[in-house]
Amino acid sequence: MEQSVNIDNCEVKKKYSFWDMHKFTILRNVVYGLITLFLVIIPTFKIVKIDIAHDESWIFGKSVPLEDGLGPLIIAGGFFAILIIILNLINGRVFCGWICPGGWVAEIQEKLKRKLFGPRSSKAQRLEYFVITGVVTLLFALLFFNWVTDLRVFFYKTNPSFIPMWLAFIGAFGVFYFELFIGKRWCRVFCPTGIYQKITPYHHLYKPTMASWANLDDCGHCRECIKNCPMALDPRRMAYINDFYKGLQACIACGLCIDTCKQVRVPECKEPLMVWVKDLPPRNQDFIEGKTHHHPTH
Ligand code: SF4
Ligand code: SF4
Repeated sequence: MEQSVNIDNCEVKKKYSFWDMHKFTILRNVVYGLITLFLVIIPTFKIVKIDIAHDESWIFGKSVPLEDGLGPLIIAGGFFAILIIILNLINGRVFCGWICPGGWVAEIQEKLKRKLFGPRSSKAQRLEYFVITGVVTLLFALLFFNWVTDLRVFFYKTNPSFIPMWLAFIGAFGVFYFELFIGKRWCRVFCPTGIYQKITPYHHLYKPTMASWANLDDCGHCRECIKNCPMALDPRRMAYINDFYKGLQACIACGLCIDTCKQVRVPECKEPLMVWVKDLPPRNQDFIEGKTHHHPTH
């Protein structure tokens, strides 16, 4: 049911600041950005790094035998594995929506893809996308190889690691290119970490859904939260659906649907319909199946 609105004296607009309407978008990009920065800084400044090409490791700027550097690297990997398990138990795929740099870059690629592959995209734009994906893949691959080797090895034919490193790099480049080319579809369908988080016990303490006082008809023809959901869900009702691709299992708790609904509704002086809830309000089968009482014209 639509809430009553007084356009002349818009209380709703006064209630929601710019921050309220963009909170999750800003916070996520800051968190993703900081994590990526750490992933660059730590090996670049040799805080922790192994250098297979020179058969040595670095811990806090000190050169140590190669094997000594493996310990901290394994601990760092273990830390991320445990973090995924804990976050998954608290709020589902929050790791995917807030921490994984692969997810972040895939999301940026997806936006780019939509921009370039819009209904009027030309062949030139497609070529542009192939090239941009190549450059982004190169940077992304270098970010990871920087942890295990001195990157100059790729230019020194005499180094015994020259050929193995190139082979490893070409393999990784292929996988990353595929990931970034398909954008967020990678996270929806292919990512092993994502699949793991769908099939292990998970819990969503906070779920995005439509406020209990609202119904699908209140949206009119909007559909903006659906268009903006990086996981291609219908955020209004997906929490009621038990499905790997269409249901809560796929939600990465990014909060973009919450931001989007505010950005659509508040300027129109209407209360946003999307909220976080701990307990889902009861809904009938029509709502869960997405049936509205009006018929969209487009
Ligand atoms: S953004 Fe809000 S108004 Fe638009 S479809 Fe989603 S829930 Fe409805
Ligand atoms: S339903 Fe909302 S929180 Fe979940 S992935 Fe989609 S936009 Fe993000």
